[in-house]
Amino acid sequence: MPRRPPIASRPAGAVATGEPAGARLSAPLAARVLALACITAACAHRPRGAEPPRAWSYTVEDHGERWDVELCFADARPPALVAATAAAEVLIDPRDATTGAALDLTDGDAPRIDLAPMRGPCLTYGVDLTSAADGWPRRLPQLGDDRLVANELWLWHPPRIAEDAAITAEFRAREGERVSTPWTPLGDGRYALPEAAVRWGSYTAVGDLELHALEVAGGALEVVVLDGPRRLTSAGLRRWLEAAGEAAASLYGAFPRPHLQLLVVPVDGGDEPVIFGAVERGGASIFLLINGGAADDEFIGEWVAIHEILHTGMPFVARGDAWLAEGFVTYYTEVVRARTGLKTEEQAWQALFAGFRRGIHDVRGDATLSDASQAMGRLHAYSWVYWGGAAIALLSDVAIREASAGARSLDDGLRHLSRCCAQSSRRWTADEILAEIDAWRGDAGIAPLCREVLATSGFDELPALYRKLGVSVVDENLGVDDTAPLATLRRAIFAKVD
Ligand SMILES: [Zn+2]
Repeated sequence: MPRRPPIASRPAGAVATGEPAGARLSAPLAARVLALACITAACAHRPRGAEPPRAWSYTVEDHGERWDVELCFADARPPALVAATAAAEVLIDPRDATTGAALDLTDGDAPRIDLAPMRGPCLTYGVDLTSAADGWPRRLPQLGDDRLVANELWLWHPPRIAEDAAITAEFRAREGERVSTPWTPLGDGRYALPEAAVRWGSYTAVGDLELHALEVAGGALEVVVLDGPRRLTSAGLRRWLEAAGEAAASLYGAFPRPHLQLLVVPVDGGDEPVIFGAVERGGASIFLLINGGAADDEFIGEWVAIHEILHTGMPFVARGDAWLAEGFVTYYTEVVRARTGLKTEEQAWQALFAGFRRGIHDVRGDATLSDASQAMGRLHAYSWVYWGGAAIALLSDVAIREASAGARSLDDGLRHLSRCCAQSSRRWTADEILAEIDAWRGDAGIAPLCREVLATSGFDELPALYRKLGVSVVDENLGVDDTAPLATLRRAIFAKVD
């Protein structure tokens, strides 16, 4: 029998990119699922100094409770290695591979391995995955016979990293075990790590893994289903994630990443088929916590997987600007489901109305949407920020369509953003993203409109917009007026795509 992960026994850990799922869950369940949130502490340190090394490789040997790592530099060797604090707690015996000399670990502001005594290009060190288990669930969830290892535990790296550094990793799994990483396979057993791998969190999964390879709209999806109770069949899993991928790709014109790892963790309970989702930015990875009791049909067209895949088409957005990342994605989660036939246009409008209503109920006093976005985590103002941002997306989409007589839409701006900037290894502010979209469009742009709405609660302009579009909801029933000034534009937003 697979063991159930002891979610309830641990307090909430780090908070992930944030999800409206949290806003829709009961507080205890939200705390439980947030305990599985996986964005780990940043671990890059950038003191000034000599030129950073341009190429190095990790070879990881899995011995179950312990990993042995060999790290080799192809050119310059840095003076030291740094890592997340958690990595120092599980580090075993770092040595120069050439001389066998022990290397010192120092703990100042951040842990460092001093490489000055090294003579050769390689060092070796062990990683104690037994003691890392103390940090459960954030760093080392054990799910039945499968294990997720937070990559921050073993990714010791130079203090400075060139953006085009060639970093590779190779894994030697135990007999009968398989490995899944969030990085692009090079085809020879190695993976190419982006600079973001040492900056942001991600997981490597090891064990007798259930792996599914899906091809969706030009993207390769590696789905890992970890041990846990589940009714969802393999065929149902594929149908669910293929439909979600196609829906998200309908916005961007193609699947937003060439390679994406999807970690699916089944657990007992939950009111919805997917309980929680998060994007891991230390590679290309999505984490989905699913309700083990939900059947195949409940997953088709559910919103969390689509929402998270849509996030991977945008760059990592600054925490205080959640209104843009979450708002735009929340709007398009409803729009693309209608466009790809997973919902009707009527259901999409009802979802938007219901969401805006939840957002309006979440507004606090005279605060603005901008204030709420800056303090979203502290205020737990998730419904306000997500749906206030979604209102901005709807207003912007309508404004662009109106100004271009239907020739352009917000879709075009997000497609451009996906192509130019989604894989950027830094955080972007909302101002930078709006500037990128507006410069590309070359007109007055949407930034002034966004700023205007951000200075209010975020919902003041909706009643007038509803009248222009010709939509209303009375007692949960959608009313549509096809003589409204922008009725044609309204229909175009949800027009089906092939
Ligand atoms: Zn989100």
